[in-house]
Amino acid sequence: MKIKTQEISNRIFEEKDVKLFVKRIDLTHEFISGNKWYKLKYNLLEAERNSFNTLLTFGGAYSNHILATSVLANENGFKSIGIIRGERCADLNPTLKLAKEHGMQLHYVSRKEYQFKQTSKFLSVLRNKFGDFYLIPEGGSNKFALKGTSEIITKNDSQDYICCSVGTGTTLAGIINSSSIKQNIIGFPAIKGFKELEKEIKSITTKSNWQLNNDFCFGGYAKTNSLLINFINNFNKNQLIPLDAIYTGKMMFGILELIAKDYFPKGSSILAIHTGGLQGNKGMNQRFGFNLP
Ligand SMILES: *Cc1c(COP(=O)(O)O)cnc(C)c1O
Repeated sequence: MKIKTQEISNRIFEEKDVKLFVKRIDLTHEFISGNKWYKLKYNLLEAERNSFNTLLTFGGAYSNHILATSVLANENGFKSIGIIRGERCADLNPTLKLAKEHGMQLHYVSRKEYQFKQTSKFLSVLRNKFGDFYLIPEGGSNKFALKGTSEIITKNDSQDYICCSVGTGTTLAGIINSSSIKQNIIGFPAIKGFKELEKEIKSITTKSNWQLNNDFCFGGYAKTNSLLINFINNFNKNQLIPLDAIYTGKMMFGILELIAKDYFPKGSSILAIHTGGLQGNKGMNQRFGFNLP
């Protein structure tokens, strides 16, 4: 697959003598958040290898992973079941509507029950109800996902810094594992729980050329403010690159702040991974009246 990397221009980059590139894995697929395609790739092969015909996974009602699983399952001849956290709403939100249109069977569980989703008791209840299935964890994060995300960057991505948004950390870990030790990898968590994230990423990576920057999570998962929303809209107007409000908007806000504060030495090149997530903007616009791209 040919993935486009584009350079972004801005007066401040010249002033600070840095170059910023964006790797557009968001363009991998119309409905699949870019990194979720990489996370699912080897999971689908594993499901096929073991002759499963159904995929089952978990997620919130606006989850990029839920939609990605429904679409990839549909394209590859699997049935899919989504266990959704929270009550069913009378009108499906844009994410769940699309997932359903791609054949996903939606099953809602209370927030309390959802906490026990990985226990063998809960899974056996699901197996009694739905028959046998290939289980993909929430967010798609497992060793097959790590193998897939290690294909996001290649030797040609030789910038000094690589930046990526962080949810579970599996995408960042894949990037770390395939980076050169001369590169600096910076993760921008979109959620709270910095210490656990750091521990998790450490446990699945083989290098120490990385760090997390926790200054741009905007209060936690799916939290936003008008500064962030305006930033995303201005960025789209000036650069013609849409960002999402949960992950990539926060990362890009952080990168520009760090450039402004001289974090990157003169002459540095920076690669930002655009992991996608744009489908989520529709739900945000609908819920909060934003005008996200
Ligand atoms: C899921 C997601 C992430 C986080 O990926 P992890 O592997 O869970 O860290 C980042 N960006 C976007 C757009 C996502 O959908």
